[in-house]
Amino acid sequence: MIEVKNVVKSFDGFHALDGLTMTVPRGAIYGLVGPNGAGKSTILRHLTGAYRQDSGEILLEGAPIYENPAAKRRMAGIPDELYYFNSASTRDMMRFYRGIYPSFDGGRYEKLKEAFPAVDEKRPIRRLSKGMQKQAAFWLALSCRPDYLLLDEPVDGLDPVMRRQVWSLLMGDVAERGTTVVVSSHNLRELEDVCDHVGILSHGKVALERSLSELQGGTVKLQIAFQTEEPPALPEGVRVLHTDHLGRVYTYIVRGSAEDVEARFQPLAPLFMEALPLTLEEIFIYEMGGEDYAVRDIVL
Ligand code: ADP
Ligand code: MG
Repeated sequence: MIEVKNVVKSFDGFHALDGLTMTVPRGAIYGLVGPNGAGKSTILRHLTGAYRQDSGEILLEGAPIYENPAAKRRMAGIPDELYYFNSASTRDMMRFYRGIYPSFDGGRYEKLKEAFPAVDEKRPIRRLSKGMQKQAAFWLALSCRPDYLLLDEPVDGLDPVMRRQVWSLLMGDVAERGTTVVVSSHNLRELEDVCDHVGILSHGKVALERSLSELQGGTVKLQIAFQTEEPPALPEGVRVLHTDHLGRVYTYIVRGSAEDVEARFQPLAPLFMEALPLTLEEIFIYEMGGEDYAVRDIVL
């Protein structure tokens, strides 16, 4: 588990992080979403122990991360600006990481060669194209078999096929080994298929933090067609957040579980109805409603 409590970090008086609080449970894939300049890279640099906060706490399983080699040996990451030793090849970096990470898995490294056929492991990483450098970074990070993976906009610059590939490798690790992942993006859509926790970052703060199951259990999208041209009066006590229709098919965004909502609409004798889970994007839009324009702007 990673706990960030009320962290402030300023650069020349400017608060890049302004009381940031977030909790990443063990085994979560935590998406950190926010516009450019929100503080994503800054908080990730704190999580990897590269920066020290001005105030507040950053704990990995209860121990401060900064200047904590034991914590750092359990974490691998992909920073926003890749940095490798001058003229080091992927293979050279593999040897370097093998020396640092007790969990480094040489077999995994050899196996992952198949996943990244375009990366020539003997060429200096700096000579590779941007997309190939990202692939090399993934290859190395996954080979370290870390308990915690910290990824700063990791699929930026990858083509759609490679994006799918790295997400699926990542999901495999989480399923198999319970790796905890923190991944940032400026695009919620990019993360919504992979993350089970999301923090919306705005002006150096987490404006909203939710788990997907928490969210999806609370609101559903009900598609329903009635026998009458006009929809009947809706049942008492149903909380509708949004209504839309296309011809006679009505879509209601309703509070409650799928079973509960269907049971309440059943007495209206619909021609058909189906309660669907919302996408993360829809959840944030409807959950926030008019309440928080800052968050709405980020999500939309
Ligand atoms: P994001 O990754 O969400 O786009 P960053 O964390 O990179 O945002 O930046 C957050 C804010 O902090 C920005 O306004 C940026 O200019 C500022 N900032 C980040 N790093 C530094 C630094 N080393 N020196 C000065 N300002 C910085
Ligand atoms: Mg960034």
